[in-house]
Amino acid sequence: MHFQWYPGHMTKARRMMQENIKLIDIVVELVDARVPFSSKNPDIDELAKNKYRLIVLNKADMADAKTTAAWQNYFEAKGFFVAKVNSQKGAGMKEVKSLIEKACQEKKARDKKRGILNRPLRAMVVGIPNVGKSTFTNSFAGKACAKTGNKPGVTKGKQWIKINKNVELLDTPGILWPKFENQAVGLRLALIGSIKEEILNTTEMAMEFIGFLKKSYPGVLVERYSVDESKENLEILEEIARIRGCLMKGNQTDIDKAGRLLLEDFRSLRLGKLSLEVPDAQ
Ligand code: GDP
Repeated sequence: MHFQWYPGHMTKARRMMQENIKLIDIVVELVDARVPFSSKNPDIDELAKNKYRLIVLNKADMADAKTTAAWQNYFEAKGFFVAKVNSQKGAGMKEVKSLIEKACQEKKARDKKRGILNRPLRAMVVGIPNVGKSTFTNSFAGKACAKTGNKPGVTKGKQWIKINKNVELLDTPGILWPKFENQAVGLRLALIGSIKEEILNTTEMAMEFIGFLKKSYPGVLVERYSVDESKENLEILEEIARIRGCLMKGNQTDIDKAGRLLLEDFRSLRLGKLSLEVPDAQ
């Protein structure tokens, strides 16, 4: 799904978030494991203050495992619960459950002191568009789809999915806006195919990506396209076009087509599992 943000959308999303967040104890915040910084909402710390926080590194199956482990340490050091997940395959859901339970134990102890007994922990999934909220929710809730709020006569109000006796999940995830103002963030979200509005055209994006690969994953371009990595980004793109037969009339290289091919190869993991961001460089 591609999503265009307008000021009206943002105001509505913020209002819904502010309303829903009052009802919950723990925010399950999905980020894309390939771009955990860029796929994070800029205002979430403010919106979710005083709540338990679980960061889910989703699409971990597409990211560089070593870098994902580094991100996990990074967020844990900041005091978050953190899980690595592949929502498509359902991998990591047990860990998510156990981390929510862990938060739940703390909450229970606090409730007990205040004389509150057996109140389930209420959770809500949030994240920017395309990060995998629906896929995660389906996978996480699984068959536990017994909704608690839809009793006869209760037409409005929140729907809660009962995960187990301790945990309930709000059935609609909160859609949050990305960081708009940061160009590097826009480029990375476009590279993973998460935003359609490209801040750069395909050729420019591909050249930026080639520059990134040369620096962060030397050898990847050589292995896939047998190009000479010591060349300039544009020359490399032209070489990819020649090698892959991306040609226009008169045998001119079609670098736009080569760029699309390169980005498609990245998104389909044909370049391997690559992360676009490492912690601390942000
Ligand atoms: P939402 O907009 O946040 O609700 O995102 P969706 O749940 O619609 O997911 C966006 C795309 O990412 C879909 O094509 C999903 O199949 C895909 N997706 C979601 N989670 C994962 C994951 O863990 N691994 C992979 N490889 N793809 C995923």
